[in-house]
Amino acid sequence: MTAFEQAVITLKNNGYKTTGKRQKILELLYNQDKYMTAKEVQNSLKPLFPGISPDTIYRNLNTFVDLSVVEETELNGEKLFRFSCELHGHHHHHFICTECGKTIGLEDCPIDMFSSQLPGCQVTAHRFELFGLCETCSIAS
Ligand SMILES: [Zn+2]
Ligand SMILES: [Zn+2]
Ligand SMILES: [Zn+2]
Repeated sequence: MTAFEQAVITLKNNGYKTTGKRQKILELLYNQDKYMTAKEVQNSLKPLFPGISPDTIYRNLNTFVDLSVVEETELNGEKLFRFSCELHGHHHHHFICTECGKTIGLEDCPIDMFSSQLPGCQVTAHRFELFGLCETCSIAS
C-alpha cells in the first residue's frame, strides 16, 4: 500500500469522504513532495477546479493536518503544508528551502543530544527544522 492510499484510508476511517477536491489536494501534496502554501495549492488546482476558494483549500488542509496525513510549518507568518513523511514510516526532520519549498530529509534526529540535559524529564514531542536555500536556489541567487 502506498502512503497515499494509507492517507485516503485514514480519511475514510475518520468519516471524511474523499471527494474530488479533497482527493486532488492530497494527491497534489503527495506528488509534489515539498512544502507548499495554500495559495500554491490553489494555483496548482485551478486548471481542475477554476472556482475553488481559498476557504475550501484551507479547511481541507487543516483537516489533513488534524488527521496527521499532512504536516504543517510556518515561515514568515505564512503556513506551509506537505504530505506527511511519517506515513512513509520513518521519523526524520527536514531542511526546507525558503525559496521553492523543496524539502530534504535529514537522517539524524537531534533529540538524543538533549536528553542528558533533561534528567528525569520525558520529551513527548519535538520539532526541528532547518531553513535555507537549496542547491538550485543558491546558484540562482
Ligand atoms: Zn520527509
Ligand atoms: Zn530551492
Ligand atoms: Zn526527531
